[in-house]
Amino acid sequence: MVRVARVEPGSIAEEIGIRPGTELVSINGRPLQDFLDWEFLSAEDEVVVEARQPDGEEIVYEIARDDGESIGVALEPPNVRRCANRCEFCFIEGLPQGLRRNLYIRDDDYRLSFTYGNFATLSNVKERDIARILEYRLSPLYVSVHATNWEARKVLLNNPRVPNIVDQLNRLAEGGIQFHCQMVIVPGLNDGAVLEESLTDLWNLGDAVLSAAVVPVGLTQFSHLYTGETMNREKARELLELVDRWGRKSHKERGETWVFGSDELYLLAEMPLPPAEHYGEFAQIENGIGAVTSLRMRVAEGIRDLPRLEGMRIGVVTGKAMTNLMPELLDKMSGITGAEFVLIPMENSLFGPTITTAGLLVGADIKRALSGRSDLDIALIPAETINEDRIFLDDVVFDELIQELPIPVYPSYDFIDILASEELAVAA
Ligand code: SF4
Repeated sequence: MVRVARVEPGSIAEEIGIRPGTELVSINGRPLQDFLDWEFLSAEDEVVVEARQPDGEEIVYEIARDDGESIGVALEPPNVRRCANRCEFCFIEGLPQGLRRNLYIRDDDYRLSFTYGNFATLSNVKERDIARILEYRLSPLYVSVHATNWEARKVLLNNPRVPNIVDQLNRLAEGGIQFHCQMVIVPGLNDGAVLEESLTDLWNLGDAVLSAAVVPVGLTQFSHLYTGETMNREKARELLELVDRWGRKSHKERGETWVFGSDELYLLAEMPLPPAEHYGEFAQIENGIGAVTSLRMRVAEGIRDLPRLEGMRIGVVTGKAMTNLMPELLDKMSGITGAEFVLIPMENSLFGPTITTAGLLVGADIKRALSGRSDLDIALIPAETINEDRIFLDDVVFDELIQELPIPVYPSYDFIDILASEELAVAA
């Protein structure tokens, strides 16, 4: 069902009487299944919309609008397609009990893959979905391939009924769809020859595969399903050797890197992260591919704009993964600003010591890090730790937490965003 959540003031929708709660039934005679239908079918300049008002009255709207003019409705969030797999390494299976309910939703939804870049396995995609992907040209899609070998993939996804991903990708590629792919590596299952086969199959899809990422399995202290081997430095190095060999091949033959190891893989391998040129357009940055290099770039670009901050002591809270990478950046910023930066790497109290990513720190970690730190003037925390409602993963509310802390605390993406801001100038 497609239902209106909000109507933009002054919009066409408001003018013709569409109200929050109105159910949008069809456009130009085509029934609306979800937000995708609305988005694509309402793109015409003239549309006939059949709708049902909140009181049950059925109504037909004839809408004509200027090129590019929005109808002005925001829809209720869609029912997310649930995942039919049960991967042993699933991060959601590794969440502790008692978090807010929506964190436990295992989505596997090609629509969210196209709209938001969420990775989907395509294992629940039916014939009618393929037809929609092709009709609406939902491209690029972000696909969790893990292994192209069918038998290996069934084991990895813990689902004997997964379709053959190579056939699926081929069919979609013939219709012009492109993909960003990822392989989450479980040592002993999809590394070595299986990974070689996966990269070969993806490479043979030509331009359809825009990038392929190799990501180490990430487990929390609650990953109760996992029976596989753990990732370690040697395995990470083996993976990076393979990634590097494929990277050189793709550079030579296609002029771009094409295959990427995640930042975490380099950190596990204790190897230097590649420079910015390696990542091209940073297509999988949300997947942790090039995020640290991008941070370094943003600091390098913004550092000259930083004001002098002599005498300030600035706490920087981060995850354990950044312990060795951060001092170089902080030293540079200290040189320009005159401020003293105090690095505070924290262990993750919710997920356990194996989860070292800064963005997954929780409110309790920030509290532990900064309570009693009145020796600092301000502190920066990773902005990724809070959602759009400013709530941490452990349900701690940022605005309530900061009332309990002795110093001002700023969520920051790249230090520059806060240190060069007027907000800080006022506080300083
Ligand atoms: S595909 Fe696997 S990892 Fe992804 S949500 Fe489903 S079970 Fe979890």
